[in-house]
Order: sequence, then structure tokens, then C-alpha cells
Amino acid sequence: MIRMNDFQRDPAELVEAEVGAFARVARSGWYILGKEVEAFEKEWAQALGAKHAVGVANGLDAIEIGFRALGIGPGDEVITTPMTAFATVLAVLRLGATPALADIRPDTGLLDLESVARLRSPRTRAVMLVHLFGQAREPDRWRDYCASEKIHFVEDCAQSHLAAWNGRRAGTFGAFAAHSFYPTKNLGALGDGGALTTESSEVAMAAAKLRNYGQTERYRHDLLGMNSRLDEVQAALLRERLKWLERFTERRREIASAYYDGIRNSLVTPLAKPIAPENHVYHLFVVRSPRRERLIAHLRERGIEAIPHYPYPVHQQAPTRELRRDPRGLKETEAFARECLSLPCHPHLSENEIAAVVAAVNGFSG
Ligand SMILES: *Cc1c(COP(=O)(O)O)cnc(C)c1O
Repeated sequence: MIRMNDFQRDPAELVEAEVGAFARVARSGWYILGKEVEAFEKEWAQALGAKHAVGVANGLDAIEIGFRALGIGPGDEVITTPMTAFATVLAVLRLGATPALADIRPDTGLLDLESVARLRSPRTRAVMLVHLFGQAREPDRWRDYCASEKIHFVEDCAQSHLAAWNGRRAGTFGAFAAHSFYPTKNLGALGDGGALTTESSEVAMAAAKLRNYGQTERYRHDLLGMNSRLDEVQAALLRERLKWLERFTERRREIASAYYDGIRNSLVTPLAKPIAPENHVYHLFVVRSPRRERLIAHLRERGIEAIPHYPYPVHQQAPTRELRRDPRGLKETEAFARECLSLPCHPHLSENEIAAVVAAVNGFSG
């Protein structure tokens, strides 16, 4: 089976290093918020060219903590996309703020600026852009739009580790950026993990308090925070996996390029190519097909796993059906949800497997 992810094929050298990292923490006698977390925060900030990184428990919390650090909460509105992991919108609701949903661009699945502009209200305090599937596209344009509207620009970077725009990495454009290290993300832990990056030392300081009960010094609490700490074991493992991230990202790009070159089928259309290779890190390689369900079955019969991201947009989920949305509706999102399909694109695919995926897609006749 050619799977979407295949961690058992991680290089032996990496697995050895992970075992060593675990032993290091086990012997250190210090398990929460210590040297490994501090070192990982430095290394992650450095990898992105960000000023500050704050490790947290997961990507969902990173979004909630970031907004709370900006002072956004009940009564405030955040515009974002319905074509994303549910966590993007859930985090805004958990914060007590109100999400509003704009439509997407059909060729990339990314948030549409004109739709956002139609939704903007006096209560809008922020736009959260999701660099979906690993695509960093015009973050500077979004930042400028938000600056001109005097609202915050925020990045959901759960899928876009190391993606760049004009030489600058995603995660350095917004008031803060949220990162998830869920195992399947491009940089994944061996469990849950997350981080927030920001150029603002105030936001970084507030986030560091919020993740630890709002504590400033031992047993002194300035804020009502939460328990959202990154533990030493996951931080140590992330430090080892980070050393491989550039290599793995390059491999994802090679696979994507083989798909773009090889896939020729009028029933299967890959999303738009990035403007420059650095813009895309191919967390997922996504195609659209009007016969999506048949395509899934066709691939499965040939030993290839393929999964839609995402088949149910946020505004069609039971708890979030009533959210305010583009007055013209979310038609592009709904069509995308029906047609999208992610092909295997993990860095351990062999040349034979890549060729098998291309052949299977090209042999699909509806
Ligand atoms: C994975 C993901 C999240 C949530 O991250 P967790 O670590 O699972 O909480 C948020 N947004 C996007 C776009 C994601 O892909």
C-alpha cells in the first residue's frame, strides 16, 4: 500500500537520534519547560527567521494563546476560511471570539481577499490566513490589506513549515503565527506539540505566561492562563527531526514536480503551481476531480491511499452551521470540498511509487 504517511520508513539514523534524545531527557530528571524546550524554541525561531518562538501543547492552543496575547476575545470577530482543519475555527470559538467565514480561490483552495473584504465589519479585529497544504501565497499582500484596515494579520502555519515568500518564511508576516507539530505535519513530534512565533516581544511574553497558568514567577499569576506546555521529550524529539526538515521538504518538492510533469488526465487537475518553488512545501499534494469518489476507489484498487482535504467545510459542520459568512455564499468552498483529493506525497516515497501514482491517475477514465 502506498500510504499518505509512512513513519516506519523514517531513516534509521533519525530513529537512532530520537532514541538518544529520549534517553537524554529521561536521564536529565527534568520533564516540563526546561533546556530542551528553550533550545527548540531558539532553533525553530532561527529556522523561520522569526524573533520569538514559544512552545505550546498543540496547534489548536497556539491559535487560542496567540489571539489572547493580542487581547482578542468575546465580542471580537476573526475572519478566516471554512476550507481548513476544524481546529482553525474551533480555536477562535474557544477564545470566546466570533469566527466569520470567507470563500476561497478555486485554483489554490486559499482564502479569497475580495470575499474577506465583503465580510469585514466594525467588529472585525483580525484575519487569519491558513497557508493551506503548505502554500505561502502573497502573505505580504494580506499583511498590507490588514494594515490598511487597522486589523491584525495572523497566520495558521500548521501545514506550511519552511514555506517562503520572496525569501522570507511563512510565520514571520503576521502579528503571530501558529504552528502544529502533530505527527503528520511536515515537522511532526512523536505525539502532540505546537508553537507560536511572533516578531513582538510583548506577544511572546504574554504567550509564555498564558501557556503556564498565567504565571510570571513561581506561584505568582498575572493572568488567567491555561496548561498548554510543550514537554521536554517532544521538544528533544523535535530538535532531531528539525535537522531533517530541509531534506524532507526538498524531497516533497521533487515528488510534486514529478506529479506536475506526469499527471495528464482531463478528469484530474492539480492545484495551481506555486509562483516560485520556495512558496510551497507540499504538506499535501492536492488535485481536483469531478469524479472524486470514483477516483478514490480507482486508486485504492491499485494499492494507493488518497484522502480528501477537506470533504466537509466548517460551515457544514453541526456546531458551526450558523457562523456569519460571505453574503454571496461559500460556493467555491463547497465545490472544492466535493472535488479535492490529496495524493501520497511524503518524503519516503520511492521513484517506483511515484511512477505508480502517476500511472494510476493517468489510467483513470471516470
Ligand atoms: C493540524 C492543524 C491545526 C491544529 O493543530 P493540532 O496540533 O492538531 O491542534 C490547525 N490548523 C491547521 C491548518 C492544521 O492543519
